[in-house]
Amino acid sequence: MKVPFNDLALLHHSIGEEIGEAIKTVIDGSGFVLSKAVSSFEQAFAKKLGVGHCIGVGNGTDALSISIKMLGIGAGDEVIVPANSFIATSEAVSISGATPVFADCDSYYGLCPNALKTKITSRTKAVIVVHLYGQAADIESISAICNDAGLIMLEDCAQSHFSSYKHSYTGCFGEAACYSFYPGKNLGALGDGGCIVTNNHNLAEKIRMYCNHGSMQHQKHVFEGSNSRLDGIQAAILEVKLKYIDNWNRQRLELAEAYTELLKINKHIVCPEIRPGAGHIFHLYVVRAQKRDELLQWLFKHNVQCGLHYEKALPFLPCYQQKNHSPAEFPVASEYQHLLLSLPIYPGMTAAQLKYTTNCIGEFYSQQ
Ligand SMILES: *Cc1c(COP(=O)(O)O)cnc(C)c1O
Repeated sequence: MKVPFNDLALLHHSIGEEIGEAIKTVIDGSGFVLSKAVSSFEQAFAKKLGVGHCIGVGNGTDALSISIKMLGIGAGDEVIVPANSFIATSEAVSISGATPVFADCDSYYGLCPNALKTKITSRTKAVIVVHLYGQAADIESISAICNDAGLIMLEDCAQSHFSSYKHSYTGCFGEAACYSFYPGKNLGALGDGGCIVTNNHNLAEKIRMYCNHGSMQHQKHVFEGSNSRLDGIQAAILEVKLKYIDNWNRQRLELAEAYTELLKINKHIVCPEIRPGAGHIFHLYVVRAQKRDELLQWLFKHNVQCGLHYEKALPFLPCYQQKNHSPAEFPVASEYQHLLLSLPIYPGMTAAQLKYTTNCIGEFYSQQ
């Protein structure tokens, strides 16, 4: 038996005809950039989320850095980000000219509100909340802290397409929220893509202009922006996939529940917990495993592909060496980085594949 980490070919086969039709329509109309296909997807995505504005951009990293920039945050400002995330979260802060400041995570893998409080200085302007692995961070506590301290809250929803907290979707809590449509995300394009959503009309206008060389109208460049746009073909594909996202997210949740049911008796494994009030969409099913590296090798040898998210917490990456962070500053993230293991999870994964995976895990520990 083989268990891939993800199976995009399987997913795309299931809707191949519809995707083909959508691509053909864009080709026939030559609407490749800033076209009807793009505005149609933007409107559909905003409507489903329940937000006022959606602006398609080139990728999720641009979505973050452009949001930060258009909120007027830059050189001399600090933005607090969680210690456990993908590099893009902190990188986007640096791209905007501001300084990323790391805060530890909680046992649900989101930004820890108490750790966040200790990182606020007179230079702090914003906080980026990441709904990591598909689960809402402690959004109530964090937004209360941001309100008290006069900080802007931004959401990194690159892993949380239509995950929820108390019946509101993630992406509806911050001043703006940033999405990635990288192929492997829960809602992925067939290439790079991303978007920014917000209820702030002025911010939406500014972002839209920035992404198109500082202009709304042909050659009326009000300010220098950049070029970061969602392609028409990708938008058309995403609009097809948007119809299926609830079904795919439900499949992921069911697989996660099956994993937890089979693994919770294993005393060497800590299964992911669902935060009360959170609607988890399991972009990743991440356990904390003893002898993680040996288990990873064992599973690989038995044709089960796993992942590490993330191998090193952000403060300990080579690119942040100059910050001289010590593990004691991030006790949770630095402990977890040696334990985290992402098991295969994707729509279309079979019960047999899941059972095989958990059996392999059981066998590994029975030999220890
Ligand atoms: C994927 C990801 C991003 C970046 O998205 P890209 O489209 O690859 O630029 C940002 N933040 C998180 C948490 C991600 O997982």
